[in-house]
Amino acid sequence: MDTYVYAIEDNVENISTLYVNLTNNCTNSCIFCIRNLVDEIKGKRMWLESEDFSANNVIAQFDMYNKPDEVVFCGYGESLMKFDLLKEIATYVKKQNIKTRINTNGIGNVINKRDIVPELADIIDEVSISLNAPNKEQYNLISRPKYENAYDAMLDFAKKCVENNIKTTLTVVDEYPDYKLDIPKCKEIADKIGAGFKIRKWLNNGY
Ligand code: SF4
Repeated sequence: MDTYVYAIEDNVENISTLYVNLTNNCTNSCIFCIRNLVDEIKGKRMWLESEDFSANNVIAQFDMYNKPDEVVFCGYGESLMKFDLLKEIATYVKKQNIKTRINTNGIGNVINKRDIVPELADIIDEVSISLNAPNKEQYNLISRPKYENAYDAMLDFAKKCVENNIKTTLTVVDEYPDYKLDIPKCKEIADKIGAGFKIRKWLNNGY
């Protein structure tokens, strides 16, 4: 069976965070992407055999776990490529007073061809957006986006999330061997739009 819901913690009786894996597709192709490194997380295969499934399939797996404190949409690909599905599942989760977060590449408005942030604000408490670089040129080298305007679109999405009172954090991946980031500049960009900033260290086992 495909893995839609997974935990990283070992104590399955008392999980604080559950992760939701909605798709293997992404509009970026980051050089450090976990998909290039590992096929499994905690023994569960992350590659979906089929992209054709319903919210009920996901919810059935979610209900097999005890109620967590938080649910994170953080698939092997970009969750906002399955926005309608995500909305159904996040609505189900929020009704149980569970905190919700999306880890995203921030291109959701381009992918969905409209501003989806007000809809997200109803069901998502927190977004973690991959800034990845302090400028478009380096972003394009690191993130290798399908969309030419991805960097600007990502920053605009982040601004809209802040304006819609979603707790917003911009992230960068540091210590990847093939590039060097201007971290103060990245933090300045996050500060300027009122977002938080997080540095993730690159780990060559993928997580
Ligand atoms: S945005 Fe995330 S899922 Fe997409 S290629 Fe980059 S690291 Fe991988």
